[in-house]
This record gives sequence, structure tokens and C-alpha cells, in this order.
Amino acid sequence: MSLVVQKYGGSSVADAESIRRVARRIVETKRTGVDVAVVVSAMGDSTDELLDLATQVSPHPAEREMDMLLTAGERISMALLAMAIHDQGEEARSYTGSQAGMLTTASHGRAQIIGVTPGRLQRAISEGAIPVLAGFQGVSPDTKDVTTLGRGGSDTTAVALAAAMGADVCEIYTDVDGVFTSDPRSVPLARPLKAVTYEEMLELAAAGAKVLHLRCVEYARRTDLPIHVRSSFSDREGTWVLSADAVAALVERGEMEEPIISGVAHDLTEAKLTVVGVPDRPGEAASIFEVISSVGANIDMIVQNVSTAGRTDITLTLGGSDAQAAMAALREAQPSIGFADIVYDPGVAKVTLVGAGMRRHPGVSATFFRALAEAGVNVEMISTSEIRISVVCRADDAPRAVAALHTAFGLDADTEAVVYAGTGR
Ligand code: ASP
Ligand code: MG
Repeated sequence: MSLVVQKYGGSSVADAESIRRVARRIVETKRTGVDVAVVVSAMGDSTDELLDLATQVSPHPAEREMDMLLTAGERISMALLAMAIHDQGEEARSYTGSQAGMLTTASHGRAQIIGVTPGRLQRAISEGAIPVLAGFQGVSPDTKDVTTLGRGGSDTTAVALAAAMGADVCEIYTDVDGVFTSDPRSVPLARPLKAVTYEEMLELAAAGAKVLHLRCVEYARRTDLPIHVRSSFSDREGTWVLSADAVAALVERGEMEEPIISGVAHDLTEAKLTVVGVPDRPGEAASIFEVISSVGANIDMIVQNVSTAGRTDITLTLGGSDAQAAMAALREAQPSIGFADIVYDPGVAKVTLVGAGMRRHPGVSATFFRALAEAGVNVEMISTSEIRISVVCRADDAPRAVAALHTAFGLDADTEAVVYAGTGR
């Protein structure tokens, strides 16, 4: 029989009424004659509320205890959802990540899934029950401790489960009708996409699009698992995330237009660091990046200036939350590396255009930079891939830059997108 994994995000299960509505949807799916397994996130903004609470108790909460605390959020929603499903006449059994065999590395707050042994879930299904799995969590086989996968990690739980159980599709239910050409919360004329390739979705997720967790897309691509992103508040078909071949087949059959640009995203979470006056000789860049990597900071863009008088500047962007640790480590290494100074700039944004059609269509860069120029946006850094152009600009300019690009590439819809729920937190 075919198996569907359905994942419901926090805004879809924000209160008792929403949980009953979601339960109805799950029960209806099961009664069409397919097997269903469910992954659920914590209710509404409750993960943020638990985080706030933790920092009131301790400014730097112990990581192990933080994971214990945060996993409680999903434990509440899974049990309530199972109760609501029961109430509608189907059997449901909830499982924590550890009960469901979600095995992860031991690193708290950013654990990686290393294996899934969903025997109990499979047994539940074979006995006619609907398993409901807590998203975002697992257990380390080494430490036996409970772990979390990083914010938004329930998407990754769902795709990992779907892959391990051989599901036909992983449905990700959210508060908008799929993946849009831009975040409909900030660009009201954003359009829903019929389909995007894994590659485009990876670029969009890395560019700050919050609709899907980056690692879930990587996982789906690796296992060629179709993801269907849709709203739990409507019956509309959402966006399919598929292989490039599968998207090409949709175009071939006339089910969608050949896409050139799939979207514009922005990210306000990065900071810019400039290491000034680096001696221009082999090994300097290596030393700098080794120091930054030693604190586990993830670097995004890198630019090196033309050198003058035997010295150069290296500018990079990295996750804002990693910036302080990276700077402290660099300052400590300053005497041995021999650069002159570090300049820290948190007031930046990254604005990104993504589209697989860039490969074939000339003139995309010209339109891109003309649109930014006409919007009065100054570009500080540029980076590209085959299917992406990203720039760093002032954070205040980001909304204007995104709107200008959305219009310049003909992405504006005729009507405003619907945002059904959620605070976008
Ligand atoms: N509840 C977790 C979070 O808010 C995981 C998730 O929603 O996917 O980040
Ligand atoms: Mg959440």
C-alpha cells in the first residue's frame, strides 16, 4: 500500500481547534485507503517561549538541558494530536524521537541524523494505527542523551522518516499555499510555484527562505523523495519539490511553464567581518579560515581585495550568532597571523535571486543590477553560482531590493497571496 508522511508545522497546530482540524485531515487521508505517518512540530511559537524562559533562568543555559526543554514542546503536540485522532475514530500512537529510532550525532542544538530505525512506527501502521512522531528531536546512541536538530528541524525529521519508510511522498503542511516566488509575508504579490527542483530549493533555503529546512531538502535530494509543500488551511495543491528531470517532465506535458527565475529571498541573520591589512603571502588566508573554523562558525561569502603595498583585506559573511566567537578567536591569533584590524558589521542583509533558467538565459545579471541601481541599493559584496546571484547590502535596503527584483523579473502576481496563520516568528 502507498504511504504518505505528513508533517504539520507549529502554526498548523497552534491551539486545540487547529489540532482537531489537522486530526480531521489526517483521518480523511487514511480513509482514502493509504497508510499515513505523521510528524508534528511544537504548538505555535511555543519553542520560542521555552527559549525565552530558559534565558530568564540562566543567561547561558546548559546545552543538554536546553534540548531536554525544547523537545518537550513536540511531546505536547504529538500527544494532543494523537488524542484528537482517537476522538475521530482512528487509532493513533505518539512517539518521541528516541522511541521512534531517530538516531543522531551527540551535538546538542545542531544534531545530524545518522540513522532511522522506525520499527515501532512500522508495527503501528501494520496494526492499523497512525503513528505520530515528535519532530526536531532524536537521541545519540553514544551519549544516550536527547538531542535537537536545529530550529525548523521537524521538516528534516519528516523527510528522514519518509525516506526510511519508503514513503511515496512527504507532505509538509504550513500556513501558506506552498513555496512562493518570495516570502508572502513581506512581498504580498508573491506567486505560488507549481514545482521547483531540489537544487533551486536548496539555494532558496540557504538564501534565507524559511519555508523549508535546508537539511530536509538535502535529504530529499539524496533519496529522490518528492516533497509536497502545502497549506493545512486549504485544499489547494501546493508546490512540488522534485528532481530536475521530474520538473522537466511537467514542463514537457504542458503542466507548467518553463521556469526561468524561481524566486527572490533575503536573509538578515548574517554579519560581515573584514580582516584588514592581511600580509599578501601564501598561507595567510588558510590561517584566518582555520581560526574561524576552530570555533565552528559557518562562513558564507568571501571576498579578497586587490593588494596594495603587500597587504590586502579579506571580507567574509557568517552567521550573526557565530560572529562574536569568530572575532574573539581571530583577535587571539592576531599576533601570529599579523593582520592590522577586524571590522565587524552586523547591519547587513543578503539578497538572492534563484533560477535554474539563468544557465540558458543571457542578461539576468544586467537586469538584476539595473533593478538594484534604480531602487538606490548599494551593493557591498557579490557571489554567484550557476543558478543564483547573491548580494550583500545594508539591512535597511533589503525590503526595497527584494521588491525591485521581484518586479523586474516579472514575478508579481495580480492578486495578493494568502497567509493563513502564524506569526512568522
Ligand atoms: N519546534 C521547532 C522550532 O520551532 C522545530 C520545528 O518547528 O520544526 O524550531
Ligand atoms: Mg516551529
